[in-house]
Amino acid sequence: MTTDELGFDPEELRRKYRQERDKRMRSDGYRQYVDVSGKFETYDDDPYAEPMVEREPLTDEVDVVIVGGGMSGLQAGARLRDAGIPRIRIIDRAADVGGTWYWNRYPGIRCDVDSYIYLPLLEETGAMPTEKYAKGADILAHCQRIARHYDLYSDAALQTRITSITWDEDCLRWIVRTDRDDAMKARFVVLGSGPLNRPKLPGIPGLDTFTGHAFHSARWDYAYTGGDPDGNLTGLRGKRVGIIGTGASCVQIAPRVAEWAEHLTVFQRTPSAVDVRDNRPTDPEWVKSLTPGWQKRRMVNFDSIMIGIPQNEDLVADRWTDVWGKLAVWASSKAAVVETDPQALMQLADFEKMEEIRARVDSIVEDPATAEALKPYYNLFCKRPLYSDEFLQTFNRPNVTLVDTDGRGVDRITETGVQVGDDVHEVDCLIYATGFNVGAPAYESGGFEVFGRGGVNLAKDWADGVHSLHGIYSNGFPNMFVIGGITQAAVTINFPHILGEQAAFVAQVIKRCMADGIAAMEIRQEAEQRWAEIMASKAVDRGQFERECTPGYYNNEGLDDRPSLFGRTYGGGPFEYLQICHEWLATDFERDTDLILD
Ligand code: NDP
Repeated sequence: MTTDELGFDPEELRRKYRQERDKRMRSDGYRQYVDVSGKFETYDDDPYAEPMVEREPLTDEVDVVIVGGGMSGLQAGARLRDAGIPRIRIIDRAADVGGTWYWNRYPGIRCDVDSYIYLPLLEETGAMPTEKYAKGADILAHCQRIARHYDLYSDAALQTRITSITWDEDCLRWIVRTDRDDAMKARFVVLGSGPLNRPKLPGIPGLDTFTGHAFHSARWDYAYTGGDPDGNLTGLRGKRVGIIGTGASCVQIAPRVAEWAEHLTVFQRTPSAVDVRDNRPTDPEWVKSLTPGWQKRRMVNFDSIMIGIPQNEDLVADRWTDVWGKLAVWASSKAAVVETDPQALMQLADFEKMEEIRARVDSIVEDPATAEALKPYYNLFCKRPLYSDEFLQTFNRPNVTLVDTDGRGVDRITETGVQVGDDVHEVDCLIYATGFNVGAPAYESGGFEVFGRGGVNLAKDWADGVHSLHGIYSNGFPNMFVIGGITQAAVTINFPHILGEQAAFVAQVIKRCMADGIAAMEIRQEAEQRWAEIMASKAVDRGQFERECTPGYYNNEGLDDRPSLFGRTYGGGPFEYLQICHEWLATDFERDTDLILD
């Protein structure tokens, strides 16, 4: 097809994408970021908690300790309750359950995945979100609902930071130690501390010299800004505010801050791809039409479309599924007649989609230079696609400035502001919307150590790569299960779906062990070896795609030194993965485990 017929020049776009990527490549990759510890540990303080409730150290024994009260831990708790397990203890350093939705309470926060699939256990708890894209506060409330419904609060240890988890080979129990001097015993441990747990700061020179007020978006300081997640940020009146980072968090934060700050400056390294959100209230007639099992069907329908399995109906019908619909249209279009290579066809479809997103910027942002700076030049799935009907509009406000760093990032933080090139932009308040240490294993994101059989340290044991069966069970660590570990498991855009399925598998294993008097179950090395071979045989070569991408956490910041986030997952997709897990439990559990009876 000609450039005129396509409406864009593929070669020119390819050249531009590479040029933009090359500007952003840097040799330090992940090392450019700073953890919220040491001299930056106050960035990790919990701004939401009431004063800590004193309690005696726990030295009792429970059936299961669940590490983390987020989407993994809550679903594990729910499924364990369904399985009739009596003593379940969720441990979380937060003062409540909710995980991501406990910590992230910034103004404007919502989930950008359809709430009817994102919020788990809707049918079981009799809940229904009020909008297609739920507010963060509503998701947190749903997490609390799950905890109440399944009685997960009564034995929970909140505001409790685990320091170590150690396998005691004499009593065949895990000893869980915490910063509250607890030394409790647990027959089983479920690690569910989540891949988006640990905030990261940019390693910008002068980070510690700023004398104004600064915080990370995942620890919003309402004591300073006033207001709540709906806005009303009266504390920002008369204040000059800077936001560093233009990812998913900033896209939701900036419109609310702009309403209250005297001036907002947004510092951008790479523009996000921001598509239409089109949120709407839940239709009561649709709710009436639902029949039992509807949520699972909707989740499966969404995930199917997202991995290219044709469906008669698109139940979610949003911008996520629209992209894949578009690819299907392309596959049957006249472009397919001249271009039969599916990857080349996919690239053309991606170019077209991104042209649409760039045209949207022009149609909304009035200042041409600002509009140009806000246009993303990379393939759609190089970074998480975003959805907002307010973010781009924010740059038309007289009190908002975009400072585009042309891919370099901010040069320096000074005592009073943010330096880009020769200009210092003075601010009273600086908000780091710079994301998380995505995909960090549970012990790293949770900040504790795990010592398995023979005192082996999990961090050292996995230093050269995770060894596991299904990303859930690991040799040397009996009675321990990982939910949401990503590596060697499957992922979907609707992450809670996979977490829920993994929770159900783990609950089945624990139920079986308790019913059959199995004191300890440990996965054999041969099983891990077999899984590693299956993983290798199913590996999808994303190398070419990821090398062409602008750096980000999806592609190891552009470096090839370790498998990328998705490169570590099971390449056969979520449905194959779940079927394998099911079949393993039904047929191979005994073959692949060493069991010690009570
Ligand atoms: P991201 O990792 O997506 O974004 C971090 C931002 O900080 C990027 O724009 C990055 O630029 C920028 N940055 C980093 N270093 C510098 C620097 N030195 N100078 C200037 N800018 C810098 O973090 P978010 O918190 O926005 O989102 C993290 C993830 O959380 C999302 O990808 C998503 O998975 C999840 N999330 C989901 C939401 C939902 O609705 N479901 C809402 C919010 C978050 P660059 O792109 O160049 O690296």
